[in-house]
Amino acid sequence: MFDLVLCGGRVVDPSQGFDAVADVGIVGGRVAAVGVDLARGGVRGTVVDAAGLLVTPGWVDLHTHVYWGVAPLGVEADTYCLRRGVTTAVDAGSAGAQTFPGFKRYVIDVSETRVLAMLHISSLGMARDESAGADVIGELEDIRWANVDRAIEVARAYADVITGIKVRISTYHVGESAERTREALRRARQAADAIGKPLMVHPGQTAIPLDEVLASLVDGDVLTHVYHGRTEGVLDSAGQVRASVRAAAERNVHLDVGHGRGSFSWQVARAGLEQGLLPSTISSDIHAWNTAGPVFDLATTASKLLHLGLPLMEVVRRLTSTPAACIGRAGELGTLAPGAVADVSLFKLAEGDWAFQDSAGVEEHGRVRFEPVAVIRGGRWHPCALGADDARTM
Ligand SMILES: [Zn+2]
Repeated sequence: MFDLVLCGGRVVDPSQGFDAVADVGIVGGRVAAVGVDLARGGVRGTVVDAAGLLVTPGWVDLHTHVYWGVAPLGVEADTYCLRRGVTTAVDAGSAGAQTFPGFKRYVIDVSETRVLAMLHISSLGMARDESAGADVIGELEDIRWANVDRAIEVARAYADVITGIKVRISTYHVGESAERTREALRRARQAADAIGKPLMVHPGQTAIPLDEVLASLVDGDVLTHVYHGRTEGVLDSAGQVRASVRAAAERNVHLDVGHGRGSFSWQVARAGLEQGLLPSTISSDIHAWNTAGPVFDLATTASKLLHLGLPLMEVVRRLTSTPAACIGRAGELGTLAPGAVADVSLFKLAEGDWAFQDSAGVEEHGRVRFEPVAVIRGGRWHPCALGADDARTM
C-alpha cells in the first residue's frame, strides 16, 4: 500500500524514456511504482489529483547561491528553490573551507530543500564586502586564499554533501594577472583530483584564453555559464563554436547554462544550439541580484530553453537525470525509477504570451512556461509559491 499517489499527471522521466499519463506511487520516502490505477489497491495517506499537470523527477539546480547572510549574493534556499519547483539545490561555491561548517549547520541542515555544494577553492568562498562598490576585493585576488590542503580536508570531512570544487576566474574574482588565474585554476584542479570529484569553472572575461581553461578540464567537470556573452565565450570572433569547446563536450565536460545576472545571451545560446552545441544541464545561478529578473527561478530559465526549441524531454533531462549524474547521484536523484528517492516536481505547462529577458535585457516572447505547483521532497509534499519580489502574475 502506498503512502502517497499522484494520479493522472503527464509523467516525463527522461531517465527511463517515459512520457505518458500515469500515476506515481510513493512508499517510505522512495518511489515505489509508476503505472496506471495505482490507487486501486488502497492508499495509506494522500491521493493527489495531478490531472493536467506535468510530473517529473525532482529538479536538480546545479548552480545556485544559497548561503544567505554570509555570501552577499546568497538567497534563501526554500524560498527560491523548493518553493519554485527545485528539490535539490547545488550551491556553486558560496562557501569555502573556512566558511563551510556554518553553511552545513545553518543552511544545509535546516533547509527543506536538499542542499549540496561545490566547495570554493578560496577558503573565503564568496564572503566579501559589497559596500566597497568598485573596490570590492575578489575572492582570489590574493592567491593565498586558495589553500588546497584546507579545501581537501573540508571536502573529505563533509564528503556526503560536497559534490566538487568550484573556482571563479573572471578578472573581477582573480584580478588581471594571467599567472594568478592559471594558479587559481591549477590549485582548484589539484583539490578536485585529490577528492576524485568534478571541478566546476566559472569562465568569462578571463585573463587567459578559454582554450587554455578548457584544456585543464576532464571527463565529468563542469563549465558553467556556457552561453555568456562576455569575452572568452564559446563562440569565436566569426560566431562559430570554438573547436576547443566541441572537443571538451566530446570528452564529457558538462556544459552548464548557469543563467545568472550576466551569463545568458539569446544570441550566444541560439548560435550554439543552431550549431549543435547543446547544454548538458540547465541551471539558474539564482542569487540576490537576479531573483527579481532576469532569472526569477529555474522554471523561468527552463522555459527559455523550451522557447529556444529544445524539446520538453530534453529540457527535463537537463534538469533531472543529467545534473544528478554530475553530482554522483544518478539512480538516486533525478529519476522516478523504483527505489529512487521520492523527489518529484509538479508543474503547469502554461500557454500564453510570456516575456523572457536574457542577461542583457533583450526581451523575447515565448508561448509556454513552466509554472511550479508543488514538489515532493523525500516523500513530503510542499506547495510552491512565488517570492515577494516577483512582480509577475501567475
Ligand atoms: Zn554563480
